[in-house]
Amino acid sequence: MKWEMVVGLETHVELATKSKIFCSCSTQFGGDPNSHCCPVCTGQPGALPFLNRQAVEYTVMAGLALNCEINRYSKMDRKHYVYPDLPKAFQVSQFDIPLCINGHLELSGGKMININRIQLEEDAGKLIHEGGKILVDYNRAGVPLIEIVTEPDFRSAEEVVEYLEKLQGILRTIGISDCRMQEGSLRCDVNISVREEGSSQLGTRAEIKNLNSFSFVQAAIEYEFDRQTGLLEAGKPVFQETLSFDSVSGKTLNMREKEDADDYRFFPDPDIPAIILSEEDIKRLRECIPELPEARIKRYVSEYRLPEADATLICKYKKVADFFDKASEGLKNPAVAASFILTQMFSKISTEVAREQWASPIPPEFLRDLVLLLEEKKINHNLAKNIFTKMLEEGKAPKSILEAEGISTDEVIDLDELCKSAVYTNPGAVEDYKKGKKKALQALIGNVMRQSRGRADAEEARKILLELLKE
Ligand SMILES: [Zn+2]
Repeated sequence: MKWEMVVGLETHVELATKSKIFCSCSTQFGGDPNSHCCPVCTGQPGALPFLNRQAVEYTVMAGLALNCEINRYSKMDRKHYVYPDLPKAFQVSQFDIPLCINGHLELSGGKMININRIQLEEDAGKLIHEGGKILVDYNRAGVPLIEIVTEPDFRSAEEVVEYLEKLQGILRTIGISDCRMQEGSLRCDVNISVREEGSSQLGTRAEIKNLNSFSFVQAAIEYEFDRQTGLLEAGKPVFQETLSFDSVSGKTLNMREKEDADDYRFFPDPDIPAIILSEEDIKRLRECIPELPEARIKRYVSEYRLPEADATLICKYKKVADFFDKASEGLKNPAVAASFILTQMFSKISTEVAREQWASPIPPEFLRDLVLLLEEKKINHNLAKNIFTKMLEEGKAPKSILEAEGISTDEVIDLDELCKSAVYTNPGAVEDYKKGKKKALQALIGNVMRQSRGRADAEEARKILLELLKE
């Protein structure tokens, strides 16, 4: 029997607001345990929440970027459960009227992943297991989160990973989250079930909680698919349960039986007024959304003639794409600037976090000036590469490095003239070549390179010299 996996995702994304959702405490990652806390975010009796407007606006921006409808009337609800990381014994979330509904994200093959809803909620604290004790840190409690819920539209682990990468790119581009999986600002829960291929009925699903890297998401889905098909093939039932993924063993483990919505006793939070958005609010937020990665990749391919793989790599990091746009101004062939970024700059700025922050040692104008020298044939590609290495080390403009090396770029290299001069002043080498000593050509190319102080294109010089030597 052929089995098909059916996967839906709930992705939690911490919003990059400076303060928490209901108080003025800092949202900064890390810090001494319980140093970013106050009576509101630790749920002290009598403390009253005050909704952070920025968190609402960021949620709406996420919705607009993901093609959602925005509910102009929305509200916050209490979701009850008891766990030590949740000091109030309820989480403030959104139940029946979330801010955003009915969106979608398109995968590369054109497949649409439907987004059911995006809701705003608060994060919980963190439990730390240490020396047989369980400690609790409430620094994260009350950090604003959005939960993005898809329909069960995924049919493979690869589709899930592609969706997450695209989602990360979009949310970083609109600037509402840094989406760092390793710091937990993007994490996801996977709902997975298995059914006979071609069936339209859904099987019993299990939920794998809190996956915090793309490779764990992939591994957990693949393991769970095998586990569930194994059970079904042996004639055993799949139970509805909540699982965790153990990255060491690569297995999913039971955490608890799955709760239903009824178990949470949702009701509207009486301390927080309804959220009302005007058409003007939504229009203003729509105008805040910059060009999204998908549109940017298309523009680079069609206008700049970049290979799609290069365009995709550059657009993975908004700051890199912004740098590239500036470096490309006025260039005939921006793909050359792109290749300097993707080779020399990427090998110097090599980690994901560093590329995301993109602390470039040179401004984009310096790269543009270097590529212009190449386009004007004032330097060759090899020299440009060497100059660029020095630019990245010293943070200087190409002209000042060329000057320091005693290379003038004021005059254009007349390669024909240089080749003629090489032939004219080296009759010995010419004679050797004509007698069949092919190596003599190298001496003539060397002469051209010396005359141009290394700026000439050696390959071009070879072609011209061969023509001259035919005579
Ligand atoms: Zn607080």
